[in-house]
Amino acid sequence: MINNKVQDAINAQINAEFWSAYLYLSMAMHFEAEGRPGVANWFKIQFQEEQAHAQIFINYLNQRGGRVVLKAIDEVPTTWASPLEAFQATLEHEKKVTALINDIYALAEEVKDYATRDRLNWFVSEQVEEEDNARQLIDKYKLIGDDGMGQYMLDQELGARVYNAPAALAE
Ligand code: MG
Repeated sequence: MINNKVQDAINAQINAEFWSAYLYLSMAMHFEAEGRPGVANWFKIQFQEEQAHAQIFINYLNQRGGRVVLKAIDEVPTTWASPLEAFQATLEHEKKVTALINDIYALAEEVKDYATRDRLNWFVSEQVEEEDNARQLIDKYKLIGDDGMGQYMLDQELGARVYNAPAALAE
């Protein structure tokens, strides 16, 4: 059986991942309404990825004979002044998620739950990627500033993003 404190932490993380999904869906809907289909597409894929993160933790807890407990998802913001602002908010949010993953990692080590630590390694790498993606897009939006053609081209680029289910989902 899985340690109770670790189980509680994973359940809290499942909620945090669903909150992330809800946040990014809200961003997608905002930019859809703002006539930024590429940005909306990028965040819709982010929404799918976050649901996959929650599902990976759900699968893991079930594999360990634990009990998944789903709690209410807190309200999310609904408007952002610009794509730049949304990607800055994304980076700040992902830094918080990284800290949460690190906390569970430390707890798993403390109680010698090496299976959980092993599962978390995937999330540790994933967080490096999440932060890097947001940082790169912040840089691009800063670079183009108010240039209309640049904004259009970057929206096209984000519109080309496709969803790939993470391999960890099948484990
Ligand atoms: Mg996540």
